[in-house]
Amino acid sequence: MRIVAVLMAVFLWLLGALFLLAAAAPEAVAGGKVVPRLIVGLLLFLGGLVLIIFAWRSGKNSPTADSAGGGKSAQEPPGQLSLKALTCPHCGGQADAASVKVGPEGTMSVTCQYCGAVYLIQEEPKW
Ligand SMILES: [Zn+2]
Repeated sequence: MRIVAVLMAVFLWLLGALFLLAAAAPEAVAGGKVVPRLIVGLLLFLGGLVLIIFAWRSGKNSPTADSAGGGKSAQEPPGQLSLKALTCPHCGGQADAASVKVGPEGTMSVTCQYCGAVYLIQEEPKW
């Protein structure tokens, strides 16, 4: 996505440069087409600049914003993901999602359905 934006920006800049060169051409000067071509060239250059800024910002924000990988993190909360592979530290049994209780400050406790042990789920930040 970022590379595509950069390539498009370069393409726009080349196109803009072509229009700027065409504006300086003798036939454009004779025909009075200098100003329109200058405007088009500058607009293309600005479009490329916006694309570069957009690509730079999205590239800079993505590692911290969602390291889990795109839209997947929005659909499934991190606690749900860790619960899938949760096993009881006492007996090694698979934890039941229904036995999860959310306590204060977002802590989650699980009661093992096999041995009755209660333990906390610690959500490890991925960044
Ligand atoms: Zn257990």
